[in-house]
Amino acid sequence: VIQMGQPEHSKITTCAYCGVGCSFKAEMQGDKIVRMVPYKDGKANEGHSCVKGRFAYGYATHKDRITKPMIRAKITDPWREVSWEEAIGHAASEFRRVEAQYGRESLGAITSSRCTNEEVFLVQKLVRAAFRNNNVDTCARVCHSPTGYGLKTTLGTSAGTQDFKSVEKADVILVIGANPTDGHPVFASRMKKRLRAGAKLIVADPRRIDIVKSPHIKAEHHLQLKPGTNVALVNALAHVVVTEGLIDEAYVRERCDLADFEIWARFIAQEVNSPEASAEFTGVPADEVRAAARLYATGGNGAIFYGLGVTEHSQGSTTVMAMANLAMATGNIGREGVGINPLRGQNNVQGACDMGSFPHELTGYRHVSDEGTRQIFETLWGVSLDMEPGLRIPNMLDEAVGGTFKGLYIQGEDIAQSDPNTQHVTAGLAAMECVVIQDIFLNETAKYAHVFLPGSSFLEKDGTFTNAERRINRVRKVMEPLSGKAEWQVTIDLARALGYEMPYSHPAEIMDEIALLTPSFAGVSYATLDKLGSVQWPCNDKAPFGTPLMHVDHFVRGKGRFMLTEFVPTEERTGARFPLILTTGRILSQYNVGAQTRRTANSTWHDEDVLEIHPFDAENRGIKSGDLVALASRSGDISLKAEVSERMQPGVVYTTFHHAETGANVITTDYSDWATNCPEYKVTAVEVRRTNYY
Ligand code: SF4
Repeated sequence: VIQMGQPEHSKITTCAYCGVGCSFKAEMQGDKIVRMVPYKDGKANEGHSCVKGRFAYGYATHKDRITKPMIRAKITDPWREVSWEEAIGHAASEFRRVEAQYGRESLGAITSSRCTNEEVFLVQKLVRAAFRNNNVDTCARVCHSPTGYGLKTTLGTSAGTQDFKSVEKADVILVIGANPTDGHPVFASRMKKRLRAGAKLIVADPRRIDIVKSPHIKAEHHLQLKPGTNVALVNALAHVVVTEGLIDEAYVRERCDLADFEIWARFIAQEVNSPEASAEFTGVPADEVRAAARLYATGGNGAIFYGLGVTEHSQGSTTVMAMANLAMATGNIGREGVGINPLRGQNNVQGACDMGSFPHELTGYRHVSDEGTRQIFETLWGVSLDMEPGLRIPNMLDEAVGGTFKGLYIQGEDIAQSDPNTQHVTAGLAAMECVVIQDIFLNETAKYAHVFLPGSSFLEKDGTFTNAERRINRVRKVMEPLSGKAEWQVTIDLARALGYEMPYSHPAEIMDEIALLTPSFAGVSYATLDKLGSVQWPCNDKAPFGTPLMHVDHFVRGKGRFMLTEFVPTEERTGARFPLILTTGRILSQYNVGAQTRRTANSTWHDEDVLEIHPFDAENRGIKSGDLVALASRSGDISLKAEVSERMQPGVVYTTFHHAETGANVITTDYSDWATNCPEYKVTAVEVRRTNYY
């Protein structure tokens, strides 16, 4: 409920939508919010905001909020409201029953990028210390896990290289697989300001996104590639750099592993990587690629910004490494105005990854097999830890159907709507015997749950989020949890019921433990954050005020590592039955599966998902804007309205995934990134035809 009027008091907190991490002053009357005012001293937003952060917070007090714990014996039974004590006791005894029947590896958890660092840290700690395995994964699995893999492999750490401010020094901006105007609007404004001041723009995207041509901005090159061919395109850019002598030789000699570089340079110079050869796959004219490569390599500071259009592919990790190769070869890492910058989707996707919620890594990206690291945790936590990596989300679902994975604790994540191939996800959930959901709404996944533990919105939390530039921002509680219990307390109670004590009385103490265990967070505390406003990790003795730019004198891994990035076409193929490629994305006013934004006035700006289709493909099928169409793939079919649009290229269609009624992920495929299992959401072979039925 949004009540307007004069504020009586206020608190500074952080937006819970995208990875820009804008700071807001929450103005209150008593315990009611009057308005969210963009905070002028917020370092990520400098007083700016978008329609989500500014207006879309009413979901926090929406009538659909579930505020009482609930349990049921079977997923076909009605929910029964119970006390916190009974719900947590039931969840714990069911987890222990499953463990006794199927073994220690039968349990696991999924953490959420919507939650705070402290909440995520506790869930992975519960898995490792109370479940005694490493079966913890995070929703970053389905978005930016290739960023983690690709940047760590080439540069040494799983994070973007710059701060947002750095874009003000960029001369050439390469946007690849990202739609900043819709996805990261406040950062997009900063980027556009720089472009209006004269920086050059290259956009690589299958769709003509707004930034390609907007007031006073026109991309020098729009490389309108076919979905699934990023690696071919980035390799072609690098081919031009290598074969036309545009390498920054001094930088490569000083900063990079020369043996790897020489092998890579020979590989990339091969004809198969030329713009002419790659055009066969990408559809981008070779001349355009050559001109773009020359501009990026010789135009001054070259900065790369990318998003899920890079990562959500079968070669997502390969593309991230290909971009790192390109940036290193041209000397574009390690100073202001350059770098490789993942535009993170969710508010705390960086933090959820930092907090050790991957099945192979403890906090700060240290492998579970590293004995020295494990010992530090074991000493503090008083348990012995498993040294074998655990299951990823898709493996959990596979093992649920065909094996013995039977108990799952899901923190703030609606995998039945957001993960690919919905049928596979729901089959996995239905095969489990104890699914415990911690969330604020009864979402699609809750249909398969046995225990529902009410969660809290960001307005009810104390904690921290880490944004796309590694900036740790404070989240401050402005109202009491509607359920009467903060999420971190719920996890502690569940751990206690499982027989493991976690002794904290405030999230600040959880952060103190994170700092104790994690070298890149060693200098982080709530006192530091209150004093500095926010801080970018690494923050420790060497960098007490944080680190805006990474890899300045040397790469985190020492020498930069060039990786061979062979282009391998996706196995998802078009053909006579499914001749078009579907790719997906977000729109400004809505957010992911819409659980929050659709429960606010923002829903009036985009109340359904529509299918964008090129006039050529539309005419061939007798489709006009507004027609209802059936969209079918090898996985399933859905129906939605068509919008004929020249944003699309012939052969490619596009939709958003904000509405459960449309269910875009009913038709996405099972293919995923070879290194991380990040799903290939961005390429699905489909056919479209007019229909009369939803
Ligand atoms: Fe929130 Fe992102 Fe909008 Fe900022 S740009 S207000 S973080 S949704």
